[in-house]
Amino acid sequence: MITLQPDIAFKKELEKLSGASLSTCMQCGTCSVVCNLSPDEQPFPRKEMVYAGWGMKDKLLASPDVWLCHQCGDCSLHCPRAVNPADVLAATRELIYTSYARPSFMGKLLSKPGWLPVAILLPTVIIALIIYLAGTLSIPEGPVNYSHFFPHGWLNGSFTLITVLSYAIAGIGMARFWKDLRLQDGAKGMEKSFLASFWKVKNEILAHNRFNKCERNRSRKVSHFLVFYGFILLLLVTLYAIYAAITEKYPLSLTNPFKLLGNLSSIMLFTGLGMMVYNRLAKKEGTVRSTYRDWLFLGSLFLLTLSGVIIETARFMDWQWAYYLYFFHLVCVWFVVIYLPYTKFGHIIYRTMSMTYAISVNRK
Ligand code: SF4
Ligand code: SF4
Repeated sequence: MITLQPDIAFKKELEKLSGASLSTCMQCGTCSVVCNLSPDEQPFPRKEMVYAGWGMKDKLLASPDVWLCHQCGDCSLHCPRAVNPADVLAATRELIYTSYARPSFMGKLLSKPGWLPVAILLPTVIIALIIYLAGTLSIPEGPVNYSHFFPHGWLNGSFTLITVLSYAIAGIGMARFWKDLRLQDGAKGMEKSFLASFWKVKNEILAHNRFNKCERNRSRKVSHFLVFYGFILLLLVTLYAIYAAITEKYPLSLTNPFKLLGNLSSIMLFTGLGMMVYNRLAKKEGTVRSTYRDWLFLGSLFLLTLSGVIIETARFMDWQWAYYLYFFHLVCVWFVVIYLPYTKFGHIIYRTMSMTYAISVNRK
């Protein structure tokens, strides 16, 4: 016999975040039928709607299917009671970022606009402190050279260290998430190893082929593709820039192939992000409700790309404001890269883990 212990506070929080009235769901199962990503065995999202309606927090937060959903909105479009299951799953993912964040205050810090000043102040103070310790906390004279303001050794060393620390601590929450996936699923034995499963998932992620199955919002594949590969390209260019700084080949000329690739990545990111913002603002049928986390992620990635383009221009044009813009750019880097496990960007980790788990237990 199973004893249910509904968590009413959790249910109310989910209703507030999703805008859904969970008790109006009549468990018809239409949402599971219309979802092209839902498997035949243990389909979703109907069972997640049961968990949500009953306030079964542990079950819902550790359901891998919450992340197998790719937010196309088909289910919401066909729901006869207008409960919007796609919004409920999206809200559940939001609560997962907060629940599994380690240290836990990081999850809260990036969940509400009221905390934004603190989220901005934290990197601002730390970056200023590092530059102060490097002994260069003043605007340098002469032609713009960012390494005179923030020496490359200090920049690369401190940002790498803080990123590794942030991800290592966040990894504690991720490990707990993996443990809960198994626990709530009946602690099934893994039929495939983690690595073998991950290897299979990697192909799906690289091809983004799950988006093909969505009936509505097909353009989401293109926008995700552009942002995903634009960001990877940007990372590669950044790694090369670090190498160039170490080998004293920095700054790069305008015609350097890596500089051109950097510009290409900016175009891809601007286009992909523009499509995402348009899709959200246009409120097309089946579009999933947008939340603060959605806008924070899109906004910080957009500002990172824009400020990157501006500081390059500022360097070539020798603008007086270049160093202030550079500082702003570094805060944007912090928001996108160091905060990654706690923002919506963290979906690349949770989704990958859930897809890997599904394959490891041979879930079709
Ligand atoms: S969410 Fe809507 S479609 Fe899904 S089971 Fe409930 S009422 Fe039916
Ligand atoms: S939003 Fe799309 S992928 Fe997610 S459960 Fe609904 S139909 Fe399935």
